[in-house]
Amino acid sequence: MTYLPALEKTDPEIRDLIITEEKREFNKMRLIPSENYASHAVFEATGSCLTNKYSEGYPKKRYYEGQQITDLVETLAIERAKKIFGVDHVNVQPYSGSPANQAAYRAILKPGDTIMGLSLPHGGHLTHGWKVNFSGSLYNSVPYELNPETEMLDFDKIRELALECKPQLIIAGYTAYPRLIDWTKFREICDEVGAKFHADTSHITGLIIGGEHPNPFPIADTGITTTHKTLRGPRGAMILCKEEYAEAVNKAIMPGLQGGPHNSTTAAIAVALKEAEAPEFKLYAQQVVKNAKVLADKLLEHGFRLVTGGTDNHLLLIEVFESKGILGRDASKALDKAGMVCNCNMVPFDKNTPFNPSGIRIGTPSMTSRGMKEDEMKKLGDWMNEAIAHADDDATLKRIEGEVQELCQSFPCPGIDPSKWNR
Ligand SMILES: *Cc1c(COP(=O)(O)O)cnc(C)c1O
Repeated sequence: MTYLPALEKTDPEIRDLIITEEKREFNKMRLIPSENYASHAVFEATGSCLTNKYSEGYPKKRYYEGQQITDLVETLAIERAKKIFGVDHVNVQPYSGSPANQAAYRAILKPGDTIMGLSLPHGGHLTHGWKVNFSGSLYNSVPYELNPETEMLDFDKIRELALECKPQLIIAGYTAYPRLIDWTKFREICDEVGAKFHADTSHITGLIIGGEHPNPFPIADTGITTTHKTLRGPRGAMILCKEEYAEAVNKAIMPGLQGGPHNSTTAAIAVALKEAEAPEFKLYAQQVVKNAKVLADKLLEHGFRLVTGGTDNHLLLIEVFESKGILGRDASKALDKAGMVCNCNMVPFDKNTPFNPSGIRIGTPSMTSRGMKEDEMKKLGDWMNEAIAHADDDATLKRIEGEVQELCQSFPCPGIDPSKWNR
């Protein structure tokens, strides 16, 4: 039988684009730390008839009839998440991470309240108080920064700033921070200054479930996670919180910000949580961190400068401007041509611009999902070094691209089956 037969009939153009994207995802080293490969099971749930159903409200409290099944699906997702994180309340309806943060803030803050999150150029997320985002305009944002020497969190400074500005909320959890986060220190500072504590574990949720990083949810007041990063689920998010904020969080999502939940996504979140509870997932999380450390060592050997000097998690922030004499964007473009897909990124105290920063950001979650281990990471480090040293030499980049593709072909991709392409 042909692959994607309904699409072939209805919309061959989109079918071709999907297959071409599958080939890209299969043949390249995907190194963007927020990306991953979702499983066939996640895709089956995402592509199911659950997408047809409207179910504004929450299980047993819906506005429309016909919720016999959707109530069960949503309850399963909620119960699995509650058990895994040991948290009182979970809302699985946010459309993605950014609206989840918006809803959580709406539940516990008033416009004009003061919030403290890590500044974006230091590794924080847009929705943690960046100027041009809702979080920086609706609230009084007083960002904290990393320590200029260690490039790590500086709890003395964070505490000082909190004592000074008396925030209603402190946010921890980042997009480009390669180290462990000491949640208990944030809790202590929040308690001292009378702030609520919001943990955004979007990037590291898989590492938390796998036991590699500590879980903030027993101590955070509220928090969110995306479900499509290290958790390997569908594009979506969850809000997790203490019982006392449960009602406010639910109201902030519906009717505050959203209408009907995406039930197919909810089902796929339940599937991803089930997959993450399996014993193999612990090994996955361990290997993600091991791979990042081995890659870090290899790149240090090649003379790259790593922000903070290394990594404790799934990502590396690499300063290439001073250590290799190339701008981040030129480095990421050269790597892409050579079959290694990453993104350019600001480094702390960057002297260059956000659009043309000094660094690149590399993550191991996707390649670890394909079963790559230490040996492949060493090869990757050598290829990265060669590609960046020959960024203007298309012949070298093309040769590396071929070598990368050959390696990728012996590592299966969850969710992608190349044997179907020619059918
Ligand atoms: C990815 C991310 C988000 C936002 O998620 P989207 O689904 O892209 O809106 C929020 N917070 C952090 C820390 C993230 O890494």
